[in-house]
Order: sequence, then structure tokens, then C-alpha cells
Amino acid sequence: DHKTANALEIQGVGRRFGGFWAVKDVSLSVRPGERRAVLGPNGAGKTTLFNVLTGDLVASAGTIRMDGADVTQTPMHKRIKGGLRRTYQHAHLFDGLTIRETLFLAVSGVAGGWQRFLPLKPNDDAIGKAENLAGMAGLSSDLDREVANLSHGQRRQLEIGMALAETPKMLLLDEPAAGLSPSERPRLAELLLSLPKDITIVLIEHDMDIALRTSDSVSVLHNGRLLAEGSPENIMSNEAVHNVYMGG
Ligand code: ADP
Repeated sequence: DHKTANALEIQGVGRRFGGFWAVKDVSLSVRPGERRAVLGPNGAGKTTLFNVLTGDLVASAGTIRMDGADVTQTPMHKRIKGGLRRTYQHAHLFDGLTIRETLFLAVSGVAGGWQRFLPLKPNDDAIGKAENLAGMAGLSSDLDREVANLSHGQRRQLEIGMALAETPKMLLLDEPAAGLSPSERPRLAELLLSLPKDITIVLIEHDMDIALRTSDSVSVLHNGRLLAEGSPENIMSNEAVHNVYMGG
């Protein structure tokens, strides 16, 4: 039933490297429009799970459903056609372009392999959309700045703006707070909270504070398995989670 289908539903998902299960028997459901953080210490299996969700890695066990459809064996480019978008820890951006140009290319649908399509004719519609995206990414006052001159945090914001260009149904964010200075973090948290409410967001994060502040619900991974799941308040007061984080 499409109306009641979860945006994401994974059951018994595992990923093995040789004899080692980096992710083991993970099940979780994410409602449409929900903001879910997947939290865990280094080595917990977050990146592996993320790559299984994007289709970069094939699951060794279990099933993955997006919008009710089984995508367990579906390659990444087809998941993208279904409305899935991701960001990277290290943004893939062109230093010589401005924010406006970068977002213009993204709304023109040529963000990847754009060289083949240049020169693009600027048109008011695409430029308007690009400026709108800049607003959503909190970059309206920096439209003419070159990517080379952006702070780490602004690059992260720009990448989120690019991911929004084709109105994703589900956005997968790969450790958006990684490498950000303490002063850049609140701005990122604000941006994440301001994203359109109809987009389902799954955020993989090592930073507990950002994860708890920007999500409706949290799944905590430890040694490849689900250790705890609940509201940010529940997770904050969960003893097992504290032990894992304090124990390093
Ligand atoms: P996290 O992102 O939470 O730090 P990862 O998913 O990167 O965790 O890694 C989980 C575990 O799986 C780690 O012990 C890591 O060494 C192992 N691992 C990850 N990728 C591979 C790989 N390609 N081959 C072998 N082991 C891997």
C-alpha cells in the first residue's frame, strides 16, 4: 500500500568483508518526512550501512525497501531515478565556479560530467531556481563567491544545496558535521532543521550533538549491530549508548 509505505525499510541487513560482518542484522524503518540519525563511534559500521543504502555496496544479507519497493539489488543510478540523493564527506565541487554557477549546473541536471554539455545557455528559470536553492542552503549572500574561497562549512552547505536541486524524496547525508569547526556546527544544524519537511532525511553522524539536535529519531550502531533506537531524548539518557561513547 503506497500511502502507508515507509520511505525506508530495511530488514536483517548485513554486509560482509571476507569473513567479517561490518554490518550485521540491522533492521529499521523510516517514515516519509522523518529525520533519522544513524549514530555510532568509529568502526561501528555507519559508512558501510550508508554505502549499502546508496547502492555503492551490495548487501550480503537482508532486504532494503524504499517507498515500498524492494531495491536490495537495484543499482545506485536507478535508486537515484527513484528520488534518492546523497552527499559526501568530502564535497565534489569545482573550485573555479561561483556558488551561483555551481547551483545553476545542478538545476540544469549536469552536475556530473558537465564539461560535455558546456557552454550552457543561462536562462532566467534555471538561474531563479539556483538562487532559490542558495537560499535553502543559507548561501544567498555569497552567490558570487568562488568555491575555492568558501569555508569548509560553506562547501558543506553548497553540497546540500546541490543535492536539493532535483527535489529528492530521500536525502542521505554522510557525516555532514565531519571536519566542521565548533563555530560552523550550529549553522549546519540550523540548515538541516530548515530543509523542506517532505524530504526524508537519513543522516549518518559520528557527532552525537548534531545527530541529537537535528533528528526526530536516532538509531545507534555499535560493532555493526543496532545498539539502541529512540527519540533524541531517549538516546541521550541511554546508558548503553553513553558507555559506548565514553569508552571510545
Ligand atoms: P564507521 O563508518 O562507523 O566508522 P565503517 O563502516 O567504516 O564504520 O567500518 C566498520 C568496520 O568494517 C570496521 O571495522 C572497518 O575496518 C570494516 N570495514 C569497512 N570497510 C571494509 C572493507 N572494504 N574491507 C574490510 N573491512 C572493512
